[in-house]
Amino acid sequence: MNVAVLTGGVGGARFVRGLVDATDPAGITAIGNVGDDLEVLGLYVSPDLDSVLYALADLNDEERGWGRAGETWNALETVDDLDGEAWFRLGDRDLGLHLVRTQALQAGTSLSDVTARLARSLGVEASILPATDDRLRTWIRTEDGELTFQDWFVRRGHREEVAGVRFEGAEAARPAPGVLQALEEADVILFAPSNPFVSIGPILAVAEIREALEARTVPAVAVSPLIGGRAIRGPADRMLARLGGGTAPAQVADCYKGLIDVLVFDEEDVDGAAGVEALGVRPVVTKTLMVDAAARRRLAETALSAASETRVPAAATSGARHSSRP
Ligand code: GDP
Ligand code: CA
Repeated sequence: MNVAVLTGGVGGARFVRGLVDATDPAGITAIGNVGDDLEVLGLYVSPDLDSVLYALADLNDEERGWGRAGETWNALETVDDLDGEAWFRLGDRDLGLHLVRTQALQAGTSLSDVTARLARSLGVEASILPATDDRLRTWIRTEDGELTFQDWFVRRGHREEVAGVRFEGAEAARPAPGVLQALEEADVILFAPSNPFVSIGPILAVAEIREALEARTVPAVAVSPLIGGRAIRGPADRMLARLGGGTAPAQVADCYKGLIDVLVFDEEDVDGAAGVEALGVRPVVTKTLMVDAAARRRLAETALSAASETRVPAAATSGARHSSRP
Protein backbone atom coordinates (compact mmCIF):
# COMPACT_ATOMS: atom_id res chain seq x y z
CA MET A 1 0.00 0.00 0.00
CA ASN A 2 1.22 3.51 -0.84
CA VAL A 3 0.77 6.13 1.85
CA ALA A 4 1.62 9.81 1.53
CA VAL A 5 1.77 11.68 4.83
CA LEU A 6 2.13 15.43 5.33
CA THR A 7 4.14 16.13 8.46
CA GLY A 8 5.79 18.65 10.73
CA GLY A 9 8.28 17.90 13.49
CA VAL A 10 7.46 16.54 16.94
CA GLY A 11 3.86 15.32 16.59
CA GLY A 12 4.42 14.46 12.94
CA ALA A 13 7.54 12.40 13.58
CA ARG A 14 5.82 10.42 16.33
CA PHE A 15 2.95 9.65 13.99
CA VAL A 16 5.12 8.74 10.99
CA ARG A 17 7.08 6.43 13.27
CA GLY A 18 3.79 4.70 14.19
CA LEU A 19 2.91 4.50 10.51
CA VAL A 20 6.16 2.74 9.68
CA ASP A 21 5.30 0.14 12.31
CA ALA A 22 1.75 -0.19 10.98
CA THR A 23 2.38 -0.67 7.26
CA ASP A 24 5.13 -1.45 4.75
CA PRO A 25 7.71 1.36 5.09
CA ALA A 26 8.67 1.02 1.43
CA GLY A 27 5.23 2.38 0.48
CA ILE A 28 5.41 5.41 2.79
CA THR A 29 6.36 8.89 1.61
CA ALA A 30 6.62 11.57 4.29
CA ILE A 31 6.25 15.06 2.82
CA GLY A 32 7.88 17.40 5.30
CA ASN A 33 7.66 21.05 6.25
CA VAL A 34 10.60 23.27 5.34
CA GLY A 35 9.11 26.57 6.52
CA ASP A 36 11.09 26.19 9.78
CA ASP A 37 14.43 25.76 8.00
CA LEU A 38 17.17 28.18 8.93
CA GLU A 39 20.80 28.97 8.49
CA VAL A 40 22.63 29.14 11.78
CA LEU A 41 26.40 29.23 12.37
CA GLY A 42 26.80 28.79 8.64
CA LEU A 43 24.86 25.53 8.70
CA TYR A 44 21.63 24.66 6.95
CA VAL A 45 19.23 23.19 9.49
CA SER A 46 15.90 21.58 8.60
CA PRO A 47 14.33 20.83 11.99
CA ASP A 48 11.14 19.10 10.85
CA LEU A 49 12.77 16.86 8.24
CA ASP A 50 15.38 15.93 10.85
CA SER A 51 12.77 15.05 13.48
CA VAL A 52 11.21 12.61 11.01
CA LEU A 53 14.60 11.30 9.93
CA TYR A 54 15.80 10.70 13.48
CA ALA A 55 12.50 9.10 14.53
CA LEU A 56 12.56 6.67 11.60
CA ALA A 57 16.25 5.88 12.16
CA ASP A 58 15.60 5.21 15.87
CA LEU A 59 18.07 7.94 16.79
CA ASN A 60 15.57 10.40 18.22
CA ASP A 61 15.22 11.61 21.77
CA GLU A 62 11.73 10.43 22.76
CA GLU A 63 11.48 12.65 25.79
CA ARG A 64 12.52 15.92 24.18
CA GLY A 65 10.64 15.15 20.98
CA TRP A 66 13.36 16.60 18.74
CA GLY A 67 17.06 15.99 18.20
CA ARG A 68 19.04 12.89 18.97
CA ALA A 69 19.10 10.58 21.98
CA GLY A 70 22.28 10.57 24.07
CA GLU A 71 23.06 14.07 22.87
CA THR A 72 25.81 16.25 24.32
CA TRP A 73 26.20 20.01 23.87
CA ASN A 74 29.94 20.65 23.97
CA ALA A 75 30.19 22.45 20.65
CA LEU A 76 27.31 24.77 21.50
CA GLU A 77 28.89 25.56 24.89
CA THR A 78 32.02 26.61 23.06
CA VAL A 79 29.93 28.75 20.72
CA ASP A 80 28.33 30.38 23.75
CA ASP A 81 31.69 30.91 25.48
CA LEU A 82 32.87 32.63 22.32
CA ASP A 83 29.76 34.84 22.25
CA GLY A 84 28.56 33.10 19.11
CA GLU A 85 24.96 32.45 18.10
CA ALA A 86 23.92 29.84 20.67
CA TRP A 87 20.17 30.38 20.94
CA PHE A 88 19.29 27.62 18.49
CA ARG A 89 19.98 24.31 20.19
CA LEU A 90 22.32 22.13 18.13
CA GLY A 91 23.75 19.05 19.82
CA ASP A 92 27.13 17.52 19.04
CA ARG A 93 25.70 14.44 17.33
CA ASP A 94 23.14 16.49 15.46
CA LEU A 95 25.85 18.86 14.22
CA GLY A 96 27.47 16.09 12.21
CA LEU A 97 24.35 15.78 10.07
CA HIS A 98 24.15 19.54 9.52
CA LEU A 99 27.78 19.58 8.40
CA VAL A 100 27.21 16.86 5.83
CA ARG A 101 24.00 18.40 4.54
CA THR A 102 25.41 21.91 4.35
CA GLN A 103 28.42 20.74 2.38
CA ALA A 104 26.21 18.84 -0.06
CA LEU A 105 23.92 21.86 -0.55
CA GLN A 106 26.94 24.10 -1.12
CA ALA A 107 28.15 21.64 -3.75
CA GLY A 108 24.86 22.11 -5.58
CA THR A 109 22.93 19.05 -4.37
CA SER A 110 19.21 19.70 -3.89
CA LEU A 111 17.62 19.45 -0.45
CA SER A 112 15.54 16.47 -1.58
CA ASP A 113 18.61 14.63 -2.88
CA VAL A 114 20.65 15.22 0.24
CA THR A 115 17.68 14.25 2.44
CA ALA A 116 17.34 11.00 0.52
CA ARG A 117 21.05 10.37 0.87
CA LEU A 118 20.95 10.96 4.64
CA ALA A 119 17.93 8.69 5.01
CA ARG A 120 19.66 5.95 3.05
CA SER A 121 22.82 6.24 5.13
CA LEU A 122 20.76 5.93 8.30
CA GLY A 123 18.94 2.85 7.02
CA VAL A 124 15.54 4.52 6.69
CA GLU A 125 13.31 2.61 4.31
CA ALA A 126 10.45 5.10 3.99
CA SER A 127 10.91 8.10 1.68
CA ILE A 128 11.33 11.49 3.29
CA LEU A 129 10.80 14.43 0.94
CA PRO A 130 10.88 18.15 1.61
CA ALA A 131 7.68 19.72 0.31
CA THR A 132 9.88 21.85 -1.91
CA ASP A 133 13.54 22.30 -2.81
CA ASP A 134 12.91 25.99 -3.24
CA ARG A 135 13.38 28.52 -0.49
CA LEU A 136 10.17 28.74 1.54
CA ARG A 137 10.23 30.46 4.94
CA THR A 138 7.54 30.94 7.55
CA TRP A 139 7.17 34.42 9.05
CA ILE A 140 5.08 35.12 12.15
CA ARG A 141 3.15 38.38 12.45
CA THR A 142 2.98 39.64 16.04
CA GLU A 143 2.34 42.95 17.76
CA ASP A 144 6.13 43.35 17.87
CA GLY A 145 6.22 43.11 14.09
CA GLU A 146 7.05 40.21 11.80
CA LEU A 147 9.48 37.61 13.14
CA THR A 148 11.20 34.71 11.44
CA PHE A 149 9.68 31.42 12.54
CA GLN A 150 12.62 30.29 14.67
CA ASP A 151 13.14 33.72 16.21
CA TRP A 152 9.56 33.52 17.45
CA PHE A 153 9.41 29.79 18.20
CA VAL A 154 12.81 29.08 19.74
CA ARG A 155 14.45 32.36 20.70
CA ARG A 156 11.28 33.89 22.14
CA GLY A 157 9.63 30.61 23.18
CA HIS A 158 6.55 31.44 21.04
CA ARG A 159 5.32 33.87 23.70
CA GLU A 160 3.90 36.53 21.39
CA GLU A 161 0.37 35.99 20.16
CA VAL A 162 0.21 35.30 16.44
CA ALA A 163 -1.78 37.71 14.30
CA GLY A 164 -0.98 35.89 11.08
CA VAL A 165 1.54 33.77 9.21
CA ARG A 166 3.24 34.35 5.89
CA PHE A 167 5.15 31.87 3.75
CA GLU A 168 7.94 33.73 2.00
CA GLY A 169 8.74 32.19 -1.36
CA ALA A 170 5.58 30.07 -1.50
CA GLU A 171 4.25 31.65 -4.69
CA ALA A 172 7.27 30.58 -6.69
CA ALA A 173 7.89 27.27 -4.89
CA ARG A 174 7.51 24.08 -6.87
CA PRO A 175 6.96 20.69 -5.25
CA ALA A 176 10.21 18.79 -4.75
CA PRO A 177 10.79 15.94 -7.21
CA GLY A 178 8.71 12.95 -6.13
CA VAL A 179 6.11 14.88 -4.14
CA LEU A 180 3.39 15.02 -6.80
CA GLN A 181 4.15 11.46 -7.82
CA ALA A 182 3.78 10.29 -4.22
CA LEU A 183 0.40 12.04 -3.97
CA GLU A 184 -0.62 10.66 -7.36
CA GLU A 185 0.32 7.08 -6.48
CA ALA A 186 -0.95 7.14 -2.90
CA ASP A 187 -3.75 4.81 -1.87
CA VAL A 188 -4.21 6.94 1.23
CA ILE A 189 -3.23 10.51 2.06
CA LEU A 190 -2.64 11.34 5.73
CA PHE A 191 -2.18 14.61 7.60
CA ALA A 192 -0.09 13.95 10.72
CA PRO A 193 -1.13 15.51 14.07
CA SER A 194 1.05 18.53 13.40
CA ASN A 195 0.41 22.24 13.81
CA PRO A 196 -2.04 23.10 10.99
CA PHE A 197 -0.78 26.69 10.64
CA VAL A 198 2.99 26.42 10.82
CA SER A 199 3.72 22.75 10.05
CA ILE A 200 1.11 21.67 7.50
CA GLY A 201 0.34 25.24 6.34
CA PRO A 202 3.70 25.77 4.61
CA ILE A 203 3.28 22.48 2.71
CA LEU A 204 -0.20 23.49 1.54
CA ALA A 205 1.17 26.90 0.53
CA VAL A 206 2.87 25.21 -2.43
CA ALA A 207 0.11 25.65 -4.99
CA GLU A 208 0.71 22.45 -6.94
CA ILE A 209 0.61 20.40 -3.73
CA ARG A 210 -2.68 21.97 -2.65
CA GLU A 211 -4.11 21.43 -6.14
CA ALA A 212 -3.06 17.77 -6.11
CA LEU A 213 -4.77 17.33 -2.75
CA GLU A 214 -7.92 19.05 -3.97
CA ALA A 215 -7.98 16.77 -7.01
CA ARG A 216 -7.24 13.60 -5.00
CA THR A 217 -9.09 10.45 -5.94
CA VAL A 218 -8.22 8.59 -2.74
CA PRO A 219 -9.31 9.23 0.85
CA ALA A 220 -7.48 11.85 2.89
CA VAL A 221 -7.45 11.51 6.67
CA ALA A 222 -6.15 14.12 9.14
CA VAL A 223 -5.28 13.44 12.77
CA SER A 224 -5.90 16.31 15.18
CA PRO A 225 -2.94 17.59 17.21
CA LEU A 226 -5.27 18.73 20.01
CA ILE A 227 -6.51 16.66 22.92
CA GLY A 228 -9.24 18.20 25.05
CA GLY A 229 -8.77 21.35 23.01
CA ARG A 230 -5.13 21.60 24.12
CA ALA A 231 -1.86 21.03 22.31
CA ILE A 232 0.42 18.42 23.85
CA ARG A 233 3.17 20.90 23.34
CA GLY A 234 3.65 24.12 21.40
CA PRO A 235 1.30 26.86 20.25
CA ALA A 236 -1.23 24.97 18.09
CA ASP A 237 -4.11 25.51 20.54
CA ARG A 238 -3.42 29.24 20.93
CA MET A 239 -3.08 29.63 17.19
CA LEU A 240 -6.35 27.80 16.52
CA ALA A 241 -8.16 29.90 19.10
CA ARG A 242 -6.79 33.13 17.63
CA LEU A 243 -6.65 32.36 13.92
CA GLY A 244 -9.23 29.57 13.59
CA GLY A 245 -11.92 30.87 15.95
CA GLY A 246 -11.74 28.01 18.47
CA THR A 247 -10.11 24.75 19.46
CA ALA A 248 -12.90 22.25 18.71
CA PRO A 249 -12.32 19.44 16.18
CA ALA A 250 -14.42 21.36 13.66
CA GLN A 251 -11.89 24.20 13.70
CA VAL A 252 -9.08 21.73 13.04
CA ALA A 253 -11.08 20.21 10.17
CA ASP A 254 -11.74 23.70 8.84
CA CYS A 255 -7.98 24.29 8.47
CA TYR A 256 -8.07 21.53 5.86
CA LYS A 257 -11.28 22.53 4.09
CA GLY A 258 -11.76 20.62 0.84
CA LEU A 259 -8.62 18.60 1.48
CA ILE A 260 -9.74 15.88 3.92
CA ASP A 261 -12.53 13.33 4.13
CA VAL A 262 -11.98 12.16 7.71
CA LEU A 263 -10.74 13.80 10.92
CA VAL A 264 -9.42 11.49 13.65
CA PHE A 265 -9.56 13.18 17.05
CA ASP A 266 -9.45 12.33 20.72
CA GLU A 267 -12.18 10.84 22.92
CA GLU A 268 -11.89 13.92 25.11
CA ASP A 269 -13.26 15.96 22.22
CA VAL A 270 -16.14 13.62 21.36
CA ASP A 271 -18.64 16.48 21.81
CA GLY A 272 -17.18 18.03 18.68
CA ALA A 273 -18.19 15.17 16.39
CA ALA A 274 -21.37 16.82 15.12
CA GLY A 275 -19.46 19.97 14.24
CA VAL A 276 -17.02 17.97 12.12
CA GLU A 277 -19.84 16.13 10.40
CA ALA A 278 -21.52 19.44 9.61
CA LEU A 279 -18.46 20.30 7.51
CA GLY A 280 -18.90 17.13 5.46
CA VAL A 281 -15.94 15.48 7.16
CA ARG A 282 -16.35 12.08 8.82
CA PRO A 283 -15.42 12.15 12.52
CA VAL A 284 -13.45 9.23 13.94
CA VAL A 285 -12.99 9.29 17.70
CA THR A 286 -10.19 7.38 19.43
CA LYS A 287 -7.35 7.78 21.90
CA THR A 288 -4.79 9.95 20.15
CA LEU A 289 -2.07 10.40 22.78
CA MET A 290 1.05 8.68 21.42
CA VAL A 291 2.51 7.67 24.79
CA ASP A 292 4.55 4.77 23.45
CA ALA A 293 5.27 2.67 20.36
CA ALA A 294 2.04 0.70 20.72
CA ALA A 295 -0.06 3.88 20.98
CA ARG A 296 1.65 5.42 17.95
CA ARG A 297 1.05 2.34 15.91
CA ARG A 298 -2.59 2.08 17.00
CA LEU A 299 -3.23 5.68 16.00
CA ALA A 300 -1.67 5.09 12.58
CA GLU A 301 -3.74 1.93 12.14
CA THR A 302 -6.90 3.83 13.05
CA ALA A 303 -6.11 6.49 10.45
CA LEU A 304 -5.42 3.83 7.80
CA SER A 305 -8.56 1.85 8.51
CA ALA A 306 -10.63 5.05 8.59
CA ALA A 307 -9.34 5.70 5.08
CA SER A 308 -10.19 2.20 3.89
CA GLU A 309 -13.75 2.65 5.18
CA THR A 310 -14.14 5.96 3.38
CA ARG A 311 -15.62 6.34 -0.04
CA VAL A 312 -13.33 7.88 -2.61
CA PRO A 313 -14.23 11.54 -3.11
CA ALA A 314 -16.55 12.46 -5.97
CA ALA A 315 -13.63 13.86 -7.98
CA ALA A 316 -12.55 10.26 -8.56
CA THR A 317 -15.47 9.62 -10.86
CA SER A 318 -14.81 12.64 -13.06
CA GLY A 319 -11.19 11.98 -13.98
CA ALA A 320 -8.80 9.10 -14.36
CA ARG A 321 -5.84 10.69 -12.60
CA HIS A 322 -5.29 7.60 -10.52
CA SER A 323 -4.60 5.29 -13.38
CA SER A 324 -3.99 2.18 -11.28
CA ARG A 325 -7.52 2.40 -9.86
CA PRO A 326 -10.12 0.41 -11.83
P1 GDP B 1 6.79 20.79 15.38
O1 GDP B 1 7.10 21.01 13.94
O2 GDP B 1 7.95 20.29 16.15
O3 GDP B 1 6.06 21.91 16.02
O4 GDP B 1 5.82 19.55 15.39
P2 GDP B 1 4.43 19.24 14.72
O5 GDP B 1 3.76 20.42 14.16
O6 GDP B 1 4.58 18.04 13.85
O7 GDP B 1 3.70 18.75 16.00
C1 GDP B 1 3.26 19.63 17.01
C2 GDP B 1 1.92 19.16 17.44
O8 GDP B 1 2.00 17.77 17.78
C3 GDP B 1 1.41 19.85 18.68
O9 GDP B 1 0.31 20.65 18.34
C4 GDP B 1 1.00 18.70 19.60
O10 GDP B 1 -0.26 18.90 20.22
C5 GDP B 1 0.98 17.51 18.68
N1 GDP B 1 1.26 16.26 19.35
C6 GDP B 1 2.42 15.91 19.96
N2 GDP B 1 2.29 14.69 20.51
C7 GDP B 1 1.03 14.27 20.22
C8 GDP B 1 0.28 13.08 20.53
O11 GDP B 1 0.76 12.17 21.19
N3 GDP B 1 -0.99 13.02 20.04
C9 GDP B 1 -1.56 14.03 19.31
N4 GDP B 1 -2.81 13.88 18.88
N5 GDP B 1 -0.87 15.15 19.02
C10 GDP B 1 0.38 15.27 19.48
CA1 CA C 1 8.33 22.53 13.04
